[in-house]
Amino acid sequence: MKKKNGVVLVLSGPSGAGKSSLINKISDEIGDYYFSISTTTRPIRDGEVEGVHYHFVTQEEFKKDIEENHFLEYALVHGNYYGTSVKPVREALDEGKLVIFDIDVQGNTAVNNRLGDITTSVFITPPTLEELEKRLKNRSTDSEEVIHKRIRMAKREVQRISEYDFLVINDDLDEAAQKLKQIALTAKFKIPIHEINEFVQQWEEI
Ligand code: 5GP
Repeated sequence: MKKKNGVVLVLSGPSGAGKSSLINKISDEIGDYYFSISTTTRPIRDGEVEGVHYHFVTQEEFKKDIEENHFLEYALVHGNYYGTSVKPVREALDEGKLVIFDIDVQGNTAVNNRLGDITTSVFITPPTLEELEKRLKNRSTDSEEVIHKRIRMAKREVQRISEYDFLVINDDLDEAAQKLKQIALTAKFKIPIHEINEFVQQWEEI
């Protein structure tokens, strides 16, 4: 069977930006997609489910996966490892799917280096730092110390918004969801460079 060409949509932004809520909101409107479930060494939070939100592993297991080249990309975020497994991503791309990643700025750089010509990237953020702090506190899944770490991290990540194709400010959830939906649908029209080259070559041969 001929392999189809999937495309990638990278979502980054501080924890508390509302990435998961936005994806849930548009999930029925963007066609067939595969949401990449990352592997992490961070402790599981209340309400999280193994294999749904993340694959939760020990540091030893994560390091073994690194050595065996199982990751498309991985990074140390807030002192914990997070990584994207290459195999399910490759399979979803071969099936022609839209592959969605929720990864940090380091992950975006790595994915762009490897799959840049089929990748669209979006940075999602609350309107202000104060709003982010409020959301993280309301979520009450993290300790005060962790919340401060996340806020410091958000300040650093925001400096790198220009590395993304789009910025979605999640003030009003419905409005932000509409924007993200349009971006996801448009991302599907990205054409890999080898296909463009083939197309150009055909025109030269006539
Ligand atoms: P959280 O602990 O709140 O679930 O995620 C913390 C941060 O790690 C978020 O910015 C999220 O986008 C990022 N993250 C989650 N999975 C991955 C991954 O596989 N790779 C990278 N580079 N970052 C990830």
